[in-house]
Amino acid sequence: MAALLQQPCHFIKPDQVISSSTHQIIPSSTNYSSSSLFPSKPTKFTKIALKSSPARLPTQICNAHVSTDPDPAPAQRDRPLKIAIVGFGNFGQFIAKAIRRQGHHVLATSRSDYSDYCDRHGIRFYRNVDEMCDERPDVVLVCSSILSTETVLRGIPMHKLNPDTIFADVLSVKQFPRNLLLEVLPPGFGIVCTHPMFGPESGKNGWSGLPFVYDKVRIAENTLQARKCEQFLSAFEQEGCRMVEMSCEEHDRHAAGSQFITHTIGRILSHLDLESTPINTKGYETLLQLTENTVSDSFDLYYGLFMYNVNATEQIENLDRAFEAVKQKLFGRLHDLLRKQIVERVPLQGAPQVAPVRTKHADVAPSYVPNIEKASKANAAPSFLPDSGKMKALTSFAMPPPPQDSNNDGSASQSKEESRKANRDTLWSQ
Ligand code: NAP
Repeated sequence: MAALLQQPCHFIKPDQVISSSTHQIIPSSTNYSSSSLFPSKPTKFTKIALKSSPARLPTQICNAHVSTDPDPAPAQRDRPLKIAIVGFGNFGQFIAKAIRRQGHHVLATSRSDYSDYCDRHGIRFYRNVDEMCDERPDVVLVCSSILSTETVLRGIPMHKLNPDTIFADVLSVKQFPRNLLLEVLPPGFGIVCTHPMFGPESGKNGWSGLPFVYDKVRIAENTLQARKCEQFLSAFEQEGCRMVEMSCEEHDRHAAGSQFITHTIGRILSHLDLESTPINTKGYETLLQLTENTVSDSFDLYYGLFMYNVNATEQIENLDRAFEAVKQKLFGRLHDLLRKQIVERVPLQGAPQVAPVRTKHADVAPSYVPNIEKASKANAAPSFLPDSGKMKALTSFAMPPPPQDSNNDGSASQSKEESRKANRDTLWSQ
């Protein structure tokens, strides 16, 4: 031990611990006891844990960690956690990198085989979830798709895990996994629901300042479980995330009005096949970026945001109403202009004056509007009428109502109506 104390302060690697019996540096074992936790610089999370369970540590071991570095890396302060990721797709791999950076051990299992990827990245991959549970991880981190999570969770052999195992999830909806975890897990298991509000695209240049939402749904106070939970969360704080403690309900309300709307707009835009132009505005660049970010996520993810968030339907309806309102504003104005032309005979500004063709039905101008259109085209004057074919398809465009019929004579009315119909048909089929 004396020799050990003379070594520089940072000789213990993240995946090593000091044996309390031999005082040798050894690889960390699977068994985790509170006496092996080292005192750490209090973070937002560790503070709470230290208050409730002050770690009484052997003096020699504490001395071995007296460091001149004012802010040693977290894994050098606390013994690393064993974190088992279930669902090792796009997001599982992305989050694993940061967890590794923070010095924790990462195990992984998934429906598909990621053993090659894991070999290259120092992660132990298990084709079988049973074998992974034999390793008794401290934290099981669920990163499966929202849609598959229930099946995935029910396939985990809970009896193989330690009775105080913590389950965490990263699903982009929160009430659903919270309720499911409470239903499926044995009572001693801890539950912390999280949502990193970023992904492989938006977080590719670092996580500094990016929001990380969490809700400690069921963590036993003043226990090692609480301590491990703080340690788990502090990994994200150490990566620079802005930690936001929030209930699952509140998360889902905010996320439907922000994230779900964003994804929906991105999905709509993706149907327009937008392309970059030589004159992109900043706003347009933002839209292109949004489209790219959105479609890089799986459709399962987007569908999960809709299906598993009780607030999503309302947001889709709001969006629909908002679009209708904007169309009404535009075409309502167009409607006024048309009415002025048709009823009040105010010619279009800049267009040549064309005399209306008088018929015996003085209140109808059979060829007036079409003539103006033709004349406008001939003189290259701007026409405010959109393509007439498209015009027909606009749900919110209302045809101007026909003038009131003061004549009670049925036959006259009929011929007037026919004349109006013919006039409308001419207008919309031009
Ligand atoms: P995803 O399509 O939502 O999920 C893919 C993952 O789910 C893969 O690990 C896949 O396993 C697994 N999976 C899909 N169907 C399965 C099934 N029937 N049975 C078993 N496993 C199945 O895409 P993701 O982006 O990786 O997201 C994973 C989780 O992270 C989701 O819950 C999502 O809400 C959350 N999240 C994502 C982001 C993001 O930006 N992408 C951000 C925050 C949170 P295999 O790969 O083995 O097939």
